[in-house]
Amino acid sequence: MNDIRDAILADQLDAVGGLAVPESYRAVLVRKDEQDMFEGLPTKEKDPRKSLHVEEVPTPELGPGEAIVAVMASSVNYNTVWTSIFEPVSTFGFLERYGKLSELTKRHDLPYHVVGSDLAGVVLRVGPGVNKWKPGDEVVAHCLSVELEDPAGHDDTMMDPQQRIWGFETNFGGLAELALVKSNQLMPKPGHLSWEEAASPGLVNSTAYRQLVSHNGANMKQGDVVLIWGASGGLGSYATQMALNGGAIPVCVVSSPEKAAIVASMGAELIIDRSAEGYQFWKDENTQDPKEWQRLGKKIRELTGGDDVDIVFEHPGRDTFGASVYVAKKGGTIVTCASTTGYMHSYDNRYLWMNLKRIIGSHFANYKEAWEANRLIDRGLIHPTLSKVYPMEDVGQAAYDVHRNLHQGKVGVLTLAPEEGLGVRDTDKREKHLTAINRFRGV
Ligand code: NAP
Repeated sequence: MNDIRDAILADQLDAVGGLAVPESYRAVLVRKDEQDMFEGLPTKEKDPRKSLHVEEVPTPELGPGEAIVAVMASSVNYNTVWTSIFEPVSTFGFLERYGKLSELTKRHDLPYHVVGSDLAGVVLRVGPGVNKWKPGDEVVAHCLSVELEDPAGHDDTMMDPQQRIWGFETNFGGLAELALVKSNQLMPKPGHLSWEEAASPGLVNSTAYRQLVSHNGANMKQGDVVLIWGASGGLGSYATQMALNGGAIPVCVVSSPEKAAIVASMGAELIIDRSAEGYQFWKDENTQDPKEWQRLGKKIRELTGGDDVDIVFEHPGRDTFGASVYVAKKGGTIVTCASTTGYMHSYDNRYLWMNLKRIIGSHFANYKEAWEANRLIDRGLIHPTLSKVYPMEDVGQAAYDVHRNLHQGKVGVLTLAPEEGLGVRDTDKREKHLTAINRFRGV
């Protein structure tokens, strides 16, 4: 592995294809024989530091249409938190099911799961049938894995019946020295970013793009008031930038003055600190409090000068969904991609139907949406929101931070890169955007 790392660090990318693919590599994984280790514990007490291991694993065989990438850096997404706490289900069920599909997918059904749904690195080998990419290409990877053997996926690839999230519902993910991807996951690495910066936006940036901007999501337009929950978090920090870029009016919800300062530094003017406001949308386990929904709605009107919300960018789920449906304006849209606080939502349906509101489900992004989202990063229109970077050995702590909401924006992980700041090719472009690139660093 050292010769591959050395060639990349010495910018000898043409030489990479001539180097042997190592028989094994170090990877972040969970073990099948530990999938019951947290049984009976409350969610908060399930500790990723206990379940995520860094181990040497055999390199998978390369199949048609696939690529092996030497991974310089990756990032922690919430899906790695879910895998590491084995909630809402153990991801080994996904691997078993995928393994039944074909001879080739059998490779994924293993007693360990190599996790991670982002990477920045260099293509090491491509399989038969791959023409667009070659060894030595500097790339990032999006996390949509599709088979595309069914007509259903040929309009919008997210509709493929065999759609999976790489590194979550498949094996050989990006939190590792090597990763196995389908070649149609690859995209060019933005040249003005370091490895860890380039590896951080992928999953959340693409998800926010489909959810908020794409016609498959909320189809945001100029002037729309967009309520963004968790506006300094993984998804929210990109949704906020997209709203600002697209001429919309973000109303950013955060939970501390520090997070409020961060979203303000991105250019957001309308900010709600939900902790300071002390919203209690739930009176008890089973009862919501519409008066608190109204209090949020009043606060939004105060901030917007009387306008209600066109689009609610939802992902907290159970805790906030009743309020989200209430505050959307007549004809407004609630677009949801997650349920961090619980997936059994309840809301007062009278507000939905009488006011002709719509709830839209959104999930990751198709290749085109992911490509467009990456293009925004490449052009310096959207910036990574990387706050902290850990070495691979400390990935458990990185996931713990995200699980406990101790982080801001995105948390990066160095895999083959020996230190931060490497891999920048376009220094002029970087200089132009340096303040924005560093906005989340060290906060
Ligand atoms: P994240 O970085 O942890 O950010 C989530 C933010 O939500 C937090 O920063 C927090 O911000 C806010 N939040 C947490 N609990 C809340 C509550 N009870 N009420 C209101 N706000 C709350 O995570 P993320 O990367 O944005 O991901 C969020 C969720 O989306 C996860 O469940 C993840 O699995 C899911 N996701 C789904 C997809 C998909 O394709 N379907 C893609 C990406 C992520 P404050 O504390 O500042 O309010």
